[in-house]
Amino acid sequence: PDTLRLRSVSKVYGSAARSVTALNQITTEFRAGSFTAVMGPSGSGKSTLLHCAAGLDRPTSGEVLLGDTDLGELDETRLTELRRERIGFVFQSYNLVSALTAAQNVALPLRLAGRRPQPGAVDGALAEVGLAARGAHRPSELSGGEQQRVALARALVTRPAAVFADEPTGALDSKTSRDVLTLLRAVVDRHRQTVVMVTHDPVAAAYADRVLVMVDGRITQELTAPLTAESV
Ligand code: ADP
Ligand code: ADP
Repeated sequence: PDTLRLRSVSKVYGSAARSVTALNQITTEFRAGSFTAVMGPSGSGKSTLLHCAAGLDRPTSGEVLLGDTDLGELDETRLTELRRERIGFVFQSYNLVSALTAAQNVALPLRLAGRRPQPGAVDGALAEVGLAARGAHRPSELSGGEQQRVALARALVTRPAAVFADEPTGALDSKTSRDVLTLLRAVVDRHRQTVVMVTHDPVAAAYADRVLVMVDGRITQELTAPLTAESV
C-alpha cells in the first residue's frame, strides 16, 4: 500500500488579470490505511484538492506523489492508466451507468483497465458491500443506499491504493449514510486502502481518522482521532 503525498501544491485558475488561487501551497500526506475527511466552506478548495490529489487535474506548482510515482512526471496516457488502476472514485450522485446491471457497473473499471473481469472479482466486490444478491439488478431497481454501495464496489474492484469520495452521503438519509460509511470504513481497514472524503456532514467526518479543514485554499486545522460529530 502506498502513501499519497502532496508537497507545496498550488492551483491557480484563470490568467494573471483575473486569477483565483484555489490551493495555496498545500503540504500533507494521506497514509496507506488512513481515512481523511476534508471539510470547509464552499469555495475553500476542497474539490480542487481532491482533483489534484487524484490526478484528475494538474497543480500549477508543487508535487503529488503516490508511493514513488510523481504524478507530474506522467504524460496524459500514463496518468489515465494510473487513475484507472490505482485510484477509485465515489460521487454524491453515484454515477452508475443506468443501462448496465450492478455487476456490469462494477466490472467497468476492470474492462477500462484492459483486464478481463474474473467473475470472482466482481462477485467478491459486490459481496463486500453486502449486495451479493443484487448483481443482476439495474440501478433504477435499487435504493439510493444500494446504488451508492454498488458505486463503492465499483471504486474498489481494482483494489486501488486510494479512494476519493466527493460528498458520498450527500444524497442519502442519515441511517443509509451510516451504513455506507461503516462499509467504507470496514473495507479500508481490511485492505489498508487510503480514503479521502469531502463532506459537509460532521457525522460523516467522524468516521474518518483525521479531518482537514480548508479555508481559502489552505489547510487551517487538522483534527485527529478520536473524532466525534460534536468535535468536528
Ligand atoms: P470547494 O470544493 O471547497 O467548494 P473548489 O475547489 O470547487 O472549492 O473551488 C475553489 C476556488 O476555485 C473557488 O473560488 C472556485 O470558484 C474556483 N474554481 C474552481 N474550479 C474552477 C475553474 N475550473 N475555473 C475557475 N475557477 C475555479
Ligand atoms: P483473501 O485474503 O481471503 O484471499 P480478499 O479479502 O483478498 O480474500 O478478497 C476476498 C474477496 O473480496 C475477493 O473475491 C475479492 O475480489 C474481493 N476484494 C478484495 N479486495 C477488495 C477490495 N479492495 N475491494 C473490493 N473487493 C475486494
